[in-house]
Amino acid sequence: MTADKRRLHPRVLLVEDEPAQREAVAYNLEAEGFEVSSADNGEDALLLVYEDVPDIIVLDWMLPRLSGIEVCRRLKMQPETRGIPIIMLSARAEEVDRVRGLETGADDYVVKPYSMAELMARAKTQLRRVRPATAGIGLEYGDLRLDPETHRVHRGDKVLHLGPTEFRLLATFLERPGKVWSREQLLDRVWGRDIYVDTRTVDVHVGRLRKAVCAFGHEDPIRTVRGTGYALG
Ligand code: CA
Repeated sequence: MTADKRRLHPRVLLVEDEPAQREAVAYNLEAEGFEVSSADNGEDALLLVYEDVPDIIVLDWMLPRLSGIEVCRRLKMQPETRGIPIIMLSARAEEVDRVRGLETGADDYVVKPYSMAELMARAKTQLRRVRPATAGIGLEYGDLRLDPETHRVHRGDKVLHLGPTEFRLLATFLERPGKVWSREQLLDRVWGRDIYVDTRTVDVHVGRLRKAVCAFGHEDPIRTVRGTGYALG
């Protein structure tokens, strides 16, 4: 029940071929609470995205093997990856104009040399949009309220007692009400990569979450979607 176990780690994929730059940006992103994976070329970047969908991507324009523009274009073409915010890094302002002109669909652009503070601020702006809970923003659905800063959950005026896994599970549901999550997607988001857990574990924890949110006789807001997984509402 430590606060740390309730922390919601946003994931960023950093794609930059200059090692010193990559290390500096990765260091700063980690300091901001991001879980960072990185690639030094466009092909590996795409593989990493398909393997483990990140919350946001910081993408250099000039990359070996496949350019940042091409990576961006491909990701924005596919429904599964279209929603991932991409911040493009480019060496000159004229390049930014060209990137814009190419309509790659990037969500933001930062010109090198940039200040690290500026890049971090932009990364957090994108994160707030897609993963509000990881950015510390309180979430609500009906009479359910979750505060990621204090780690408290209320239903109406009652305080709910959730275990750390149930807390992260509820935060995930609250970030996207109505979205149907597969067990694999929930495992990935709530338990994280590198952890081997059986998909039935998801059912066990959803069961515990249901019990906790219905503890005061409230109705069950979690829907079981047969053959698929779960959704809030
Ligand atoms: Ca480069």
